[in-house]
Amino acid sequence: MKIKSKSRKNDSSFAGLSSPLPGSYAATSKAISGPVQYKSRNWDDLAFVFFFVAVLGTFIFETSIVVPKIYSKDFHSSAGPVIHYITGFFILHNILGNFVQIIRHQSTIKGKLLLFSNQPSSSFSSKTSSANNQRYCFTCETYLPPRSYHCSSCGVCILKRDHHCTFARACIGYDNYRYFLALIFYISIGSLYVSILNMFFIWDLLGGFTFYNFMSHTFPFIFWLFGLLHWYSTMCCLISIINIAAFLFTTGLVFYHGSMVIANQTVHERAKSITDFDLGNWRSNVEQTFGSRWILTFISPIIYSKLPGNGKDFPSKRDYNLNSPKTK
Ligand SMILES: [Zn+2]
Ligand SMILES: [Zn+2]
Repeated sequence: MKIKSKSRKNDSSFAGLSSPLPGSYAATSKAISGPVQYKSRNWDDLAFVFFFVAVLGTFIFETSIVVPKIYSKDFHSSAGPVIHYITGFFILHNILGNFVQIIRHQSTIKGKLLLFSNQPSSSFSSKTSSANNQRYCFTCETYLPPRSYHCSSCGVCILKRDHHCTFARACIGYDNYRYFLALIFYISIGSLYVSILNMFFIWDLLGGFTFYNFMSHTFPFIFWLFGLLHWYSTMCCLISIINIAAFLFTTGLVFYHGSMVIANQTVHERAKSITDFDLGNWRSNVEQTFGSRWILTFISPIIYSKLPGNGKDFPSKRDYNLNSPKTK
């Protein structure tokens, strides 16, 4: 009862309990047995809608306007349009597919039996908690496995929580991290591809590559407000600028998250310099996030790749080396 009264003050905090726990602990909770209550915010809804409008809008723009214009002289005789359409559908399938999979595979602790051993191993970071000082979520009313954290937006604790994705309105964690990384990878590739196509189209539309046209392409709304740019050219420049921005943003994210996957770290662990889950070589670390068929996960979001573990217990480097096939 005392715990409950505290919980309403801060719904995203944890506290270590001083009383030692038994060797293993099964957690069930009233708070996580009901439906997950997503606390929708205007910004989240806006980002969610923006994602679909930007992706589908760009796809329609490229396939119905840009490609036909670039191949206006030999649209039916050239293989170029077909190659562009096949590539476009492949990238779109990966962007939308991984986005849907992120939402479908949310790593909440809801409905999961949190049975885990209470060992003083490296599963618990000495910098965040100790085995006898296990973390407790007052909102979910349960003890937490290592690497799990509460999300105030999702209203529930997430296994191996990385961060909350505003665009997907979902947390990225144990089950859906592979889809998130594939998503930003394909947005990066797709926006680069589109930006290159747009360069052939935009400069032709604006009348050549000059400093004036470069400025009107970069700041289309300002030029439109002063009556210096037609609304159609303004929309084309806007789509081009959004894709260039998407390329820069997601490419940075791919390198940032890629470096963490190689080190088997989450955003939180990177910020706190926690390296307890680094298994010693990049391939083992990658398989912890993508599963054994990690290469195939980048071909399609519908390809299954079984993840090791259960999202609640994580091997230390020593445990992993002892149990690996090479040492058996
Ligand atoms: Zn929680
Ligand atoms: Zn969340």
